[in-house]
Amino acid sequence: MITRPDSLLVVDDDTMNRELMLRRLTRRGFETSLAGSGKGALEWINSNRVDLVLLDIEMPDMNGIEVLKILRQTYTPAQLPIIMVTGKASSEDVVSALASGANDYVTKPIDFPVVLARIQAQLSRKHAEEALRESEERYALAALGANDGLWDWDLLTNKTYFSPRWKAMLGWEGNEISDDPEEWFRRIHPDDVDRVRADISAHLEEQTPHYEDEYRVLHKDGNYLWMLGRGIAVRTPDGKAYRMAGSQTDITRGKVVDVLTGLPNRVLFMDRLGRSFERAKRRKDKSFALIFLDLDSFKLINDSLGHLIGDQLLVAIAARLEATVRSSDSISRFGKNHTIARLGGDEFTILLEDISSALDVMRVAERISSDLSMPFSVAGQELFPTASIGISIFNSSYQSPEELLRDADIAMYSAKALGKGRYEIFDANMRANTIARLQLETELRRGIERREFENYYQVIVNLNTGKICGFEALIRWRHPTRGIVVPGEFIPVAEETGLIVPLGQWVLESACQQMRIWQARYCTDPPLIISVNLSARHFLQSDLVQQCRAVLYETQLCNCSLSVEVTESAMMPDPETAIELMHQLKSLGIKISLDDFGTGYSSLSYLHRFPLDSLKIDRSFVSRIMEDDEIVRTILTLGRNLGLKVVAEGVETSDQVNRLRDLGCEMAQGFYFSVPINAQEATDLLAEEQHWADASKTGHIDRWSSPPRQKESIANAG
Ligand code: C2E
Ligand code: MG
Ligand code: MG
Repeated sequence: MITRPDSLLVVDDDTMNRELMLRRLTRRGFETSLAGSGKGALEWINSNRVDLVLLDIEMPDMNGIEVLKILRQTYTPAQLPIIMVTGKASSEDVVSALASGANDYVTKPIDFPVVLARIQAQLSRKHAEEALRESEERYALAALGANDGLWDWDLLTNKTYFSPRWKAMLGWEGNEISDDPEEWFRRIHPDDVDRVRADISAHLEEQTPHYEDEYRVLHKDGNYLWMLGRGIAVRTPDGKAYRMAGSQTDITRGKVVDVLTGLPNRVLFMDRLGRSFERAKRRKDKSFALIFLDLDSFKLINDSLGHLIGDQLLVAIAARLEATVRSSDSISRFGKNHTIARLGGDEFTILLEDISSALDVMRVAERISSDLSMPFSVAGQELFPTASIGISIFNSSYQSPEELLRDADIAMYSAKALGKGRYEIFDANMRANTIARLQLETELRRGIERREFENYYQVIVNLNTGKICGFEALIRWRHPTRGIVVPGEFIPVAEETGLIVPLGQWVLESACQQMRIWQARYCTDPPLIISVNLSARHFLQSDLVQQCRAVLYETQLCNCSLSVEVTESAMMPDPETAIELMHQLKSLGIKISLDDFGTGYSSLSYLHRFPLDSLKIDRSFVSRIMEDDEIVRTILTLGRNLGLKVVAEGVETSDQVNRLRDLGCEMAQGFYFSVPINAQEATDLLAEEQHWADASKTGHIDRWSSPPRQKESIANAG
């Protein structure tokens, strides 16, 4: 029997609730899908395999009970368990849900351990029923199967006939195995034998309709094989068993091979890891390393292009990993027994045997990174996935193989935190960082609930006129104990946990609302523009365009006053979808700006296809401009040729301003003009500008030469 993860569907109209459940359930190994409405849920179930539904009762349009009733016309509670989520403690809802065929219910706010327990209870019942149905059919087949080994156990004499095939499966011949039933039991893996004995007894005592079990059994060559054992007792009329006969089927392949990629799966990998571990413990001159690889944007690809393409990408990646590890010259002097496995989802592991130093492993990790960075062509699409890689290297302080896996996993997370698409070797500090990170995640959730976030604004200035042309919204976290926390410290965790989606939605709303207030008060020509940063995850959200439209409608801000900032790295995993999304935003009149330009892929082949309005030159180039202005020059020329505006980021001195102006750069932002400030301070800045404009009717305002806001705020910002 090949096990696959159970797939759940969470139906809830509240995005935040959905995302929370998604993350937690995914962590527990469920394949989780989301639907935001009853209609969406019905459509999904219609065309996808779903094992269980978590269904919110209170939803606009079609409520949970209506959805439930429709589903029950097609699926029985045994076929599709449905757990209702009720907001109020109203017993009416619960009664009508149960009467309409709900399997169970939970109340909001959801207590996760409770819902998890109920999900598991429903699923195990479902599986038990399915297994029973399957096994009855299978038993009939097995009796015919020539490939299976057969046994026939006389309970009265305690002698067992083992068929020649049964013996051959384990590597033995005719008289090498006697008719003692212990010949079988003592070869069963110590972790399985008690269960097998208990299951046989249960059947002999008529507690089960037949016997069926999966267990490991020792082959003559010293390896364990996975077997499916089945059997049935023959009884006297009064029910007493006097004979039992059955079969064993070799299911090793299905047990240890990942069906999708054909690589060893977690079971086999852990087995090999255990052996390497034992060997290294015995032989001090041998060491080995474990590489843990996790794709950085697999979920984005899966969500935007669908699971089928996601699967194909995994297969292609598996093939490339194999080619890399096997062919690499730099590693050919190792033993040939490396194991490349797929642990599940987008996680791969590699066991490198016989390494002599960390350098060996680093070379392999580098080679993997560079091989993966070449585009994958899947179903006519070019995809650019990157992977974060964690490495742990055996040393004698390790107590168990699991510890090595855990540390490689921690190192992988650390690679993600340090910017993804890279590798890290485990060190002891990382464990502390992981704990800190988990704590940050918890605090972040609480911070969102308690609305601890605030938008700061940084002016964007027209260098020709000296006038403010807009603001960039930059999120800040008013942490209850740490004070103001800057985005670099929490955006990566928010991205990884999906919390960036509700957070980004809030930034968008509040920034547009604020800009609408400013525009009403300060009439400028052209009107002020608000720039909002979009994270990768948020950007590829399928309803992003819809979200922007709704926010603009609600805040009454003109579409052309909103500019969204995206980075290349947000688009590269799936450039085609990104281009499509950008066109949709463009058609609404929303402007698109490429942030931190020059630091990412700067893939020229894509640049001309992105429907952009402006490029933002990354701060790192501006800060070096007085020593070397070549890159800034090049970006300005590129911008001109593509008809794009160019904004210089991170301008800190008047020399830099002058140089940028000389080079023909039109717009800039940076501490020279103002650090990011809160909405009230930004309002004051606009009032000042009006004052300056009224005073000097010349049109060119050089008010920034001694910016009042800069010095005190830098001190505050520190
Ligand atoms: P970014 O979009 O490139 O924003 C510019 C960053 O440079 C800001 O950092 C800003 O404070 C800083 N900066 C501006 N002028 C100067 C300067 O003259 N000198 C120096 N040293 N730094 C300057 P901040 O606010 O810490 O934000 C960091 C990054 O976090 C942003 O980079 C952006 O990628 C991300 N971010 C900020 N707010 C949001 C948000 O609401 N959503 C998302 N998804 N990301 C955000
Ligand atoms: Mg930005
Ligand atoms: Mg930037």
